[in-house]
Amino acid sequence: MPSTAVARAWPQACAAGGRRAVATGASARPVVASALLLPPQELAGARLLYVTAGAPAHDYPGHAECAERVPAILRALEAGGLTEGARPGELVQLRGFPPAERAAITAVHSPKYVATLEKLSAHSADCGETRVVESSPTYLTGSTSRDAFLAAGAVIALVDNVVAASRQHEVATDSSASSTSSSSSAGGVPAGFAICRPPGHHSLPSRAMGFCIFGNVAVAARYAQRQHGLKQVLIIDWDVHHGNGTQDVFESDPDVLFISSHQGGAYPGTGKAGEVGVGDGEGATINIPLPGGAGHDAMLAAWEEVIEPAARRFKPDIVLVSAGYDAHWADPLAGLQFRSATFHHLGALVKALADELCGGRLVMLLEGGYDLQALGDSVANTFLGVLGEPASDPFDPKLLAEAPVEKVQKVLLEARRIHGL
Ligand SMILES: [Zn+2]
Repeated sequence: MPSTAVARAWPQACAAGGRRAVATGASARPVVASALLLPPQELAGARLLYVTAGAPAHDYPGHAECAERVPAILRALEAGGLTEGARPGELVQLRGFPPAERAAITAVHSPKYVATLEKLSAHSADCGETRVVESSPTYLTGSTSRDAFLAAGAVIALVDNVVAASRQHEVATDSSASSTSSSSSAGGVPAGFAICRPPGHHSLPSRAMGFCIFGNVAVAARYAQRQHGLKQVLIIDWDVHHGNGTQDVFESDPDVLFISSHQGGAYPGTGKAGEVGVGDGEGATINIPLPGGAGHDAMLAAWEEVIEPAARRFKPDIVLVSAGYDAHWADPLAGLQFRSATFHHLGALVKALADELCGGRLVMLLEGGYDLQALGDSVANTFLGVLGEPASDPFDPKLLAEAPVEKVQKVLLEARRIHGL
């Protein structure tokens, strides 16, 4: 599990690469597009696109970030009838997507870091060993490099398809407004969800950290800007841990609004309310460090009082979500006491927000979540929320400890004061 110890640098040769050795900003040259786009008629009928990149060989015995996480989610989706097989046409699983292009990764990470990862992973493949490369501990195996490219590729494939669906929907809406014929895209724009690992939001530009290899959400944000011209990107991170890697990438960028709700004081120790971005990016980083035990109502209040008004003021072109599930009461790594139903609300709320603000362009991706049952239930409930269907949460909330209501109010007031909300 992530410790509070200061993370060791990635191997020395890489650590000297500098935090900003790579191009940032929306104006850099486009990178290569994903090779996978669904046919227009499939996009028009879909309500939710999902993709799996489970990295089965990126595994370490006894580690919380284990290969069983993705199968656990898939079992829960299967049990809830939330799969392509159970709901053909409505839920669509993207298959055969390519790994991310190197240029998409190096838009966020230093080339030196990427090359070092590939070299170490190849070495692990040769000797069949799993190597701990950072103290949280972050590990890598012979498949890790390939898996990390594939996880980012999964998110990119979703971005491409969600953007294509939104453009198709705009055209259909325009043409149906000017004629009496019905729209072929009456179902709206499908959201995307990547069930992918290794996770990414702690990963820094020049090193791995906190179980994370590539910053999948950061890669997707830069890709959306450069490939699709979506200048204003909103990233919401509801993992129980602060998304320090994402914050690090975008802290001086006014075009990416990063909002992280997390348990204050938990790993990695960053994410204080006063961290608001730097330079031109000042104000485009919003941290909501909730107190331990804050619970379901606190997250909904944070949404209503901070996240939603900040998003409306920012006017995003696309919404990306670092969807971690370790804020669940059953999770072993932290203690925010969310319920599976909390993630149902969040799924519904973020879908409504994307529909309202940016033509429904919404892509979510897996970060943490380490209790396998809670993880599966919570992702299934996110799907249900996005689809606008009732929650499925058998848990009795009376079993939880009382929430520190006054402390929560203080945190939210502080965030509103700092950001003028
Ligand atoms: Zn986490």
